[in-house]
Amino acid sequence: YAVFTPYHRAWQRTPRRTVLGAPRALDTPDGIGGESLQPTGPLSPALPPGGETAARRRWRRWDVDAYADVHDDLAADGTSRLSPYLHFGCLSATELTAGALQRGGPGAEAFVRQLAWRDFHHQVLAARPDAAHRDYRARDDHWHRDEREAEAWRQGRTGYPIVDAGMRQLAEEGWMHNRARLLTAGFLTKSLYLDWRIGAAHFLSLLVDGDVADNQLNWQWVAGTGTDTRPNRVLNPLRQADRYDPDGAYVRRWVPELAHLPGPAVHRPWLHDADYPAPLITPDALTERFRRGRGLD
Ligand SMILES: Cc1cc2nc3c(=O)[nH]c(=O)nc-3n(C[C@H](O)[C@H](O)[C@H](O)COP(=O)(O)OP(=O)(O)OC[C@H]3O[C@@H](n4cnc5c(N)ncnc54)[C@H](O)[C@@H]3O)c2cc1C
Repeated sequence: YAVFTPYHRAWQRTPRRTVLGAPRALDTPDGIGGESLQPTGPLSPALPPGGETAARRRWRRWDVDAYADVHDDLAADGTSRLSPYLHFGCLSATELTAGALQRGGPGAEAFVRQLAWRDFHHQVLAARPDAAHRDYRARDDHWHRDEREAEAWRQGRTGYPIVDAGMRQLAEEGWMHNRARLLTAGFLTKSLYLDWRIGAAHFLSLLVDGDVADNQLNWQWVAGTGTDTRPNRVLNPLRQADRYDPDGAYVRRWVPELAHLPGPAVHRPWLHDADYPAPLITPDALTERFRRGRGLD
């Protein structure tokens, strides 16, 4: 399958094995395990606690019923935050799927659908291992090169507070809300038109759930080189901010130098009295770029 929707239909019809207990021992492939799993770069200061016990506590306490309504609300922070535990195998997706389906309801259904995305990306990468570093669908992009812009994006100093908030959450927690991942990745690839590999490498160096399949294929989905059936989709950072952080609370949490700006004013510091970096690309230039379509002139 190269498209998620038919994959998901088949995934839902597929019989599941029963949930098994933890294995007594694991055989890992040569060269994997122990020190090779230790991070090499600097660690984010606010990483979640590791291990199965912490994972199960989180799963017990998290409100899956609210998920369908709150999963895109940046300030509500209402997603499961189970991704690091899934990535390291502290919890199995089979067990979570079984638990959620037993509970039922729109929240559980929406949550299980996200677990199907995880399987989808893993299976796409298994079929196309080159997608870890090459375009899944080449679109003849001639990415712009600008190390100053790339570095401002990494540092959370693009001048767009909603983008900067996401990048700072990543640096602090080693994790970022999915909506923020979408809009920060969209900003790098579609607003700045910088190569998705630059962003994917930065994410992988910091994400505690950093996973080659989920990271690279989500990046490619956003960049328009992946499995998305609408590769020209653009995410306007200001519209995303108004929609998913309508009161500006997420930005004020992560960008303290703008905390004095009330409500949604925080999304447009250039209109207010604020000491903040000027936008790397002005909102007018951004609108014009989106109107013209892909690429830079
Ligand atoms: C640019 C970009 C990079 C990403 N990189 C990663 C990554 O390296 N590792 C990673 O696990 N997820 C990645 N994601 C997917 C998603 O953002 C995270 O899985 C999610 O934010 C983790 O938070 P959560 O556990 O609260 O998710 P929930 O919303 O509670 O979802 C439950 C689980 O479903 C899975 N899931 C949810 N959304 C996706 C998705 N779009 N693709 C694949 N699996 C998904 C995850 O395992 C997640 O833990 C990326 C998304 C984007 C847009």
